[in-house]
Amino acid sequence: MNIVLQHIAPTFVSCKHQPLNNFRDGLTIDPFIPPRRKDKVVIVMGATGTGKSRLSIDLAKHFSAEVVNSDKMQIYEGLDIITNKVTDKETCGIQHHLLSIIDPNEVFTATDFCQRATKAVDSIISKGQLPIIAGGSNSYIKALVNDDIEFKSRYECCFLWIDVNLKILQRFVSKRVDKMVKEGLVEEAREFFNPDGDYTSGIRRAIGVPEMHQYFINENNKNTRDKMLQIAIENIKVNTYKLACCQRQNIRRLESQFEWKINRLDATEAFEKKGIESNQAWHNIVYEQSTQIVRHFRGE
Ligand code: ATP
Repeated sequence: MNIVLQHIAPTFVSCKHQPLNNFRDGLTIDPFIPPRRKDKVVIVMGATGTGKSRLSIDLAKHFSAEVVNSDKMQIYEGLDIITNKVTDKETCGIQHHLLSIIDPNEVFTATDFCQRATKAVDSIISKGQLPIIAGGSNSYIKALVNDDIEFKSRYECCFLWIDVNLKILQRFVSKRVDKMVKEGLVEEAREFFNPDGDYTSGIRRAIGVPEMHQYFINENNKNTRDKMLQIAIENIKVNTYKLACCQRQNIRRLESQFEWKINRLDATEAFEKKGIESNQAWHNIVYEQSTQIVRHFRGE
């Protein structure tokens, strides 16, 4: 019996050499097609208060980049002081994406984040800029880098982790809460006071809002008011420190579970020192090291 093999025209010929035809399955296989080069994205991780915004702006100025926020509370409009959003002045003109873009009462999921972040990264790359994703929400980073097939297939990531000794960080975040109070934390939280006591959705989950509940309820009692405020502030400090510990643990978990190559930058010295010395330590340890890592990642 004569078997006629039908020649099937190659569906793609991208290299100079001849593609192999697998006649039996009607498939054309070209083993020499180079894989599509992935675009590069930098991801700045770290616990709350470690300086992720500062580093991302430093890097953005150096590499001509734009920043994509990955803090799940800063995505919402409002609570600029409590959630510690960068001010216009602090951005130094660097474009920030996914900051204050969602209604404070809306549900915003990790899947929503993946869609929005991928779109933002695309637009940054189309402008020839480097995307820097920065923020403390590790579940968002995990969803994007590990679970989002589209992102995973198109981007290659360089992870930078700013780490600070937890005891030193605790002192820093505690002072930061005092500063927030001076800048208007109480009035900001009042906007989201819920007499029902439900702080489980939207921006109301932000540390600084549920802790103020008892104070607002008892505010008119002049005998207890000051004490209640003190207790609320103390709780905010405790919860911020707890968050920092969890975030640090989660980064370690991502590192071991998914074998991400995370570049750890120990910024403790910059937090221990003051003034010019602190800036110098930041520059030498965090800034210099991270620019070197990113330069290497970009093949420069
Ligand atoms: P989890 O899965 O535990 O929510 P995550 O990595 O997704 O972790 P985190 O950014 O660690 O998210 O936030 C956890 C919680 O910490 C938030 O739900 C919120 O209560 C609080 N939080 C996070 N970021 C801020 C912020 N910028 N300001 C105030 N509270 C915050």
